[in-house]
Order: sequence, then C-alpha cells, then structure tokens
Amino acid sequence: MVMRFIGLLIAAAVAVWVYMDAKSKGYKTISAVGWMLGAFLLMIVFLPLYLFTRPKQSQVEILTPCKYCGRHYEGSPAYCPNCGHKVEGYSFNGE
Ligand SMILES: [Zn+2]
Repeated sequence: MVMRFIGLLIAAAVAVWVYMDAKSKGYKTISAVGWMLGAFLLMIVFLPLYLFTRPKQSQVEILTPCKYCGRHYEGSPAYCPNCGHKVEGYSFNGE
C-alpha cells in the first residue's frame, strides 16, 4: 500500500518535471500536457521517449566568420552563403 503510494508520488513528480521541462523547451501547452500524461501513465515508455525527442540544451548554432567577406555563417557549409566563396574546412596543410 505504502509502496504503491510512493510509486504514484514518483510518477506524479516525474510527470510534473516533464511538463515544466517541455514548457521551458518551448513545447505548446497541449504537447506538454500530453507528455505529462504519458509520463504519468506509462513512465517506462514516455520518459525515455521524451528525453530522446526533446531538443538538446546545447543547440547553440556555431557561427564561423567567412575569411573572404567577414560575414558569419552557421555550421560548416561548403560555400559561404553570403559571398559564395568556397569555405569548406579550414586547411591546416597550407595552400
Ligand atoms: Zn563570405
């Protein structure tokens, strides 16, 4: 009886955490509630699923300055989106 209560308490705590976390990650309220209910009813399924699908916290775009035009671009494209110069990978082997 007590164990059942504690289990319920943990499920509720996890569900609330999922809801708060989903909201802070920019999920819509309806999605956050969905994840919360899922985590509460089927924690073993929805908690790993949620942790797997939610956006990573370190989703900061890495900006690299173009060595031709000086503008910053995201990620590592083959060509600068601004000036069109080939910028793929800075070569450490010299010219
Ligand atoms: Zn450029």
